[in-house]
Amino acid sequence: MRCDVAIVGGGVGGCALATRLATAGLDVIVLERESAYRDQVRGEALVPWGFQEAAELGLADVVLGADGASVITRMTPYDETLEITRARRAALDLTDAVPGAPGVVGVGHPELREALATAATKAGALVLRGVGRSAIEPGATPSVSYEVDNEKHSLTCRLVVGADGKNSATRTAAQIPFWVTSPRVLLSGMLVDDGGAWDREETTIGVSGRNQYIVIPRANGYIRLYVGRRTTDTERINGPQRVSQFLEAYRTQALPCGDALANATPAGPCATFPLTDAWTDTPVVPGIALIGDAAGWSNPIGAQGLSIALRDARLLGEALLDAHTWTPDTLRGYTEERNTRMSRLRFATALTDLLAAFGLPDRAAKRRRMLALMAERPELGAALAGIHSGPWTPPNDAFSPDILTTLALA
Ligand SMILES: Cc1cc2nc3c(=O)[nH]c(=O)nc-3n(C[C@H](O)[C@H](O)[C@H](O)COP(=O)(O)OP(=O)(O)OC[C@H]3O[C@@H](n4cnc5c(N)ncnc54)[C@H](O)[C@@H]3O)c2cc1C
Repeated sequence: MRCDVAIVGGGVGGCALATRLATAGLDVIVLERESAYRDQVRGEALVPWGFQEAAELGLADVVLGADGASVITRMTPYDETLEITRARRAALDLTDAVPGAPGVVGVGHPELREALATAATKAGALVLRGVGRSAIEPGATPSVSYEVDNEKHSLTCRLVVGADGKNSATRTAAQIPFWVTSPRVLLSGMLVDDGGAWDREETTIGVSGRNQYIVIPRANGYIRLYVGRRTTDTERINGPQRVSQFLEAYRTQALPCGDALANATPAGPCATFPLTDAWTDTPVVPGIALIGDAAGWSNPIGAQGLSIALRDARLLGEALLDAHTWTPDTLRGYTEERNTRMSRLRFATALTDLLAAFGLPDRAAKRRRMLALMAERPELGAALAGIHSGPWTPPNDAFSPDILTTLALA
């Protein structure tokens, strides 16, 4: 078989790119490992700038039409240091972060991948599911061999796109250098049915005691809950008791309906991940380009991964449609924009982590001092706006390393 572009990984980035390229008339094959998308405990909040990327790809209706998708209109900073009524007064309106984006979209990762795979197929891409044992031969005319139903196949193409997630086999095959930071927090997540107890328009990220909470509701009664614990915490959420340990962590007065969440019914697996950033400076090498997590991810605390994957798909797609030949040089616009974007996001999530002060012994006092300083000098927190409006929107000096030092020493 031959095609213009072979995309390894039919996830968010892979299927979005396939849709864009197939719509423009390119011959695209997507190789996806899973026969049926399953809950991998990730990627459920699409921030406003990511929705804008979907809209520019012509996929806004696909995202909003994904099974169980909902619109979240405010971020309320529930926290042990704030009474619930004061947290509500401090809520951030998510509806005006980006023109045309209704807020944060809560959407299941399997449901979103399914909706995007359907869109890619409709656009004319061939999406093969249940693909195993793929091997990539990089170079000017790359090739991919793979198995479906125990039958061996191979194809040649003009470009292989690695959209195969965090542990990308494509990245490994191309020997692309890759950096991952050390985790400070382990994040456990589980989808639950809370009987609609939590307000569906509201998301939160906050801390109480040894737990950091992230709550992302969906339309159909489900809600994605996360509990973060410091890597130094001796009480880890793991082993056969992990589901009950996880739910009990929600029995807190810091959230408006902690008991209802603690009593919720599990609706998916409970899994734990280290919170890290990762990146490469060379997402394009001869014959291979990486997008989404395969090219590096932002600390999931900022909920940026879906948006990154969609922007990668759009920018790489446009670069491929603009250039006659596809080389690291002709595609360098994608590489340069991505490198700047990811470095700004590393800064923004580091600032988020610093302001959370999660795990510091004098947390309440430290936060008070940092927030007071930020109230005096709002420019110190300007990078945070980029989390919802896009990391390119704040000015350059919002990302000065001096800001982290100034706040850390407050
Ligand atoms: C705990 C956690 C919470 C997160 N929460 C959020 C959030 O709220 N909001 C947000 O925006 N992001 C979040 N993220 C990040 C987000 O899930 C990812 O960044 C996003 O899904 C990346 O999209 P992608 O297309 O690169 O990868 P994916 O969407 O994961 O797709 C990769 C695809 O490749 C397939 N695949 C893998 N290997 C192979 C192979 N060898 N051959 C063929 N196919 C293969 C996989 O089956 C999968 O379908 C979270 C991540 C974690 C870990």
